[in-house]
Amino acid sequence: MAKSISCADAGSECTWSTTANSEEELMDKVAQHVKAEHPDLEITPEQIEKIKSIIKEV
Ligand SMILES: [Zn+2]
Repeated sequence: MAKSISCADAGSECTWSTTANSEEELMDKVAQHVKAEHPDLEITPEQIEKIKSIIKEV
């Protein structure tokens, strides 16, 4: 099963979303996206927990 996430699910106005084959890969893509598009967003352990809680199986 692939995993999917979208910025909108995290409460952002952003329309970005992505899918990956593992949580590690997905978190990697999220980290790259945040760095590129949301530079003021800090990736704290709380943020990571929040992100993991909205990951969907697709
Ligand atoms: Zn975004």
